[in-house]
Amino acid sequence: MKEISKIIDGKRVIVKKPELLAPAGNLEKLKIAVLYGADAVFLGGKEFSLRSAASNFSLEDIQQGVEFAHKHHSDVHVTCNIILHNDNLAGIKEYLQALDDIGVDAIIVADPYIMMLAKSMHLSLEVHVSTQMSTLNSSAIRFYQNLGMDRVVFGRETTYEDVKVIRQKCPDIDLEYFIHGAMCIAYSGRCMLSNYFSRRDANRGGCNQSCRWNYDLYEDDQQVNGEGDVPYTMGSKDMALVNHIPELIECGIDSFKIEGRMKSLHYIATVVSTYRKLIDAYCADPDHFVMSDWYEKELEKSANRAFCTGFFYDHPTADEQLYNNRDEHPTQEFVMRVIDYDEDKQMMKIEQRNYFKKGDEIEIFSPHQSNLYFTVEKIYNEDNVEVDVANHPMEILYIPVNQKVYVNDMGRKVRHE
Ligand code: SF4
Repeated sequence: MKEISKIIDGKRVIVKKPELLAPAGNLEKLKIAVLYGADAVFLGGKEFSLRSAASNFSLEDIQQGVEFAHKHHSDVHVTCNIILHNDNLAGIKEYLQALDDIGVDAIIVADPYIMMLAKSMHLSLEVHVSTQMSTLNSSAIRFYQNLGMDRVVFGRETTYEDVKVIRQKCPDIDLEYFIHGAMCIAYSGRCMLSNYFSRRDANRGGCNQSCRWNYDLYEDDQQVNGEGDVPYTMGSKDMALVNHIPELIECGIDSFKIEGRMKSLHYIATVVSTYRKLIDAYCADPDHFVMSDWYEKELEKSANRAFCTGFFYDHPTADEQLYNNRDEHPTQEFVMRVIDYDEDKQMMKIEQRNYFKKGDEIEIFSPHQSNLYFTVEKIYNEDNVEVDVANHPMEILYIPVNQKVYVNDMGRKVRHE
């Protein structure tokens, strides 16, 4: 296992920084993830990938994504992690070759046939074992290592205690661990609820999240929904290991994965930039790092469910579930994306993303600087006519602001509750 930290100029610094791996549901999200600090992104092609509704990439899109990511020193991993049925077999070889030719850095696979095929083709790309295989122990990881796999993505059900032991027992293979995102109440995707309810196969990218639907619960003939008789759901709170990043860095995890190819641009930017800042701050001076609640509060601004720590400590309790309450978390509203800033005129050009109006307080967040705040005094449209409200999706508008902002910074409307 590589050395994790070193004394440099009398100060301990982390020399083995984990990769921050972010989801990319489309090309725009890929670019934002990279610009906000992802070391690598993962995306799905139109074939052989889970999350079939996540606006998956064509080969041309993947090529553009690879060119953009490599230009910014980030890697691209492509999911090829469906559980294959016989009628899915045709065309895999050609597809893997095309990904390799494009320069994709890794594929994420679940079906043993794709593992075997990828290795037999002697491709340049790495082969990573998907979380879909629910790998939770060191012997299984050694099995995949013996097959020539380059990395194993842990099942989300792996506890921190197990991660530490496994890291010691398996020092020579890359290990990837989920740090943030939605939980599945079955072993990731190994679930047939969706198949039964809507003929959508969770193992071929079609999960319809049926576990989060509302149900009436009966024991024999008696309805036992629980408190208040409100409908019952099987959904979990979302995982956020923000307060455990230091331990995970110190135990030598190679890659920290953020879930959410279906999530919004605002979610990607917020989550990637928060973990980027946290990892960098800790690695620069781990012995004097003090965890602040700023990181968790920042993540909450893009959340739509309350957070939990998943299986990090042990099995989740009833507190980590949303049995009788969907517990939709208030989401801060993403209202603008900066597309230019004129320093002389102190005027930013933005793309409207949600309704806002004069008098609203806006928080701008950025990969380049700390969050800044201003009140919208004036709004101009492209004809230089002053308007009171921004209510046209994607409209280009101009707003005076006397603090420097950067292209691709994002603005949220501040809620005072
Ligand atoms: S329905 Fe729920 S438990 Fe089943 S695969 Fe989908 S998210 Fe997981």
